[in-house]
Amino acid sequence: MTLEKIHREVVIIGSGPAGLTAAIYTARANLRPLLVDANDAEHQLIPGGQLMITTEVENYPGFSKGIQGPELMEEFRAQALRFGTEILEAMIERIDLSERPFKLYTREGYLIEAETLIIASGASAKWLGIPGEAKVPAGLGGNGVSACATCDGPLPAFRNKRLVVVGGGDTAIEEATFLTRYAAHVFLVHRRDKLRASKIMQDKAFANEKLEFIWNTEVKEILGTMEDGVTGVRLYKNKTQEEIIFPCEGVFIAIGHKPNTELFKGQLEMDEVGYLKTAGHSMATNVAGVFAAGDVQDNFYRQAITAAGSGCMAAIDAERFLDSLPVPMPSGEEVTMEGEVITPDHKKIILPDGEVISNKAEEVSAGD
Ligand SMILES: Cc1cc2nc3c(=O)[nH]c(=O)nc-3n(C[C@H](O)[C@H](O)[C@H](O)COP(=O)(O)OP(=O)(O)OC[C@H]3O[C@@H](n4cnc5c(N)ncnc54)[C@H](O)[C@@H]3O)c2cc1C
Repeated sequence: MTLEKIHREVVIIGSGPAGLTAAIYTARANLRPLLVDANDAEHQLIPGGQLMITTEVENYPGFSKGIQGPELMEEFRAQALRFGTEILEAMIERIDLSERPFKLYTREGYLIEAETLIIASGASAKWLGIPGEAKVPAGLGGNGVSACATCDGPLPAFRNKRLVVVGGGDTAIEEATFLTRYAAHVFLVHRRDKLRASKIMQDKAFANEKLEFIWNTEVKEILGTMEDGVTGVRLYKNKTQEEIIFPCEGVFIAIGHKPNTELFKGQLEMDEVGYLKTAGHSMATNVAGVFAAGDVQDNFYRQAITAAGSGCMAAIDAERFLDSLPVPMPSGEEVTMEGEVITPDHKKIILPDGEVISNKAEEVSAGD
């Protein structure tokens, strides 16, 4: 297949809060960013990112009455487009960061060359890996099993039904509480005897009459058939080592998220979970000219506002890099677009040909 080639100074992966904020900043800096964004149900990727699958966002500053997640992302997108961001809906499947321009290969047949790259590919829901969970036809995924209550909860398949939610963190409580709007009853199955969710969420959940907790219990299998959908789950009570078949008509897996970083394995430094490592005081990765922002590099805050904030930082870092101003790297060195490396102690500059010169102003010859 002949690849359609596109070359840009700034390419951004992802249109969640991080990617679109980076787009707003780089577009306003006249860098004509290209934002590439996947719409791929299998990998749970959606233009606008994770906020597209939620309802009310109450904690994003500037919206005193709250705003619906999709509406907020529509505003982000309109603002990025207003300043000239170009958006390409495409799934990046392969990437080569060995030299600049970096090369991005999409499923749709584009070869995108980028002088600087801002990765804002976010995170996706995690699965348990148990029998019955895989997507139809291998399992019941999509036929009574879901990882997104806000997307699927209102569907007739789950209305007025007995539903099981698996997990114990904020995601699980949020999803279980949301499902009580539609379901006959919701059972939250958690492998421990207490929740990891915030106190305020727990109090709300305990007061909800349609929500019941099954503690110290693990879901080992999802049962059912293609014709009937989900009919139950096999539960293992880990305190008593007892196994039971628990009847239910739908299962929601809500055990958290994993960063979308498969593409970068072997090319960028990551932590043990797969979150990209950045410099801390800049959004630089270990490859000069590649920056990361949002949930893809944040295992801790994982909020729209922090994603947007780091998107802004990555955009300013990319601008500085293109201006050949030094950008701090995770190693402590600083690197310019020309390939000059300033040592962590700021005493020396290593030029691209390997020559080492002093970085001390007083050692610069008189008259300079
Ligand atoms: C149910 C739910 C409710 C939430 N509620 C709130 C809330 O009330 N307040 C709050 O602050 N936060 C909330 N969050 C968290 C918030 O949504 C995230 O912190 C935020 O969306 C992270 O933004 P991001 O830009 O890093 O990535 P994401 O929003 O995850 O966006 C990632 C983007 O990358 C794209 N992408 C990924 N891989 C590729 C690829 N290979 N090729 C092309 N494109 C790709 C995707 O299509 C997507 O556009 C919620 C999250 C969930 C799941």
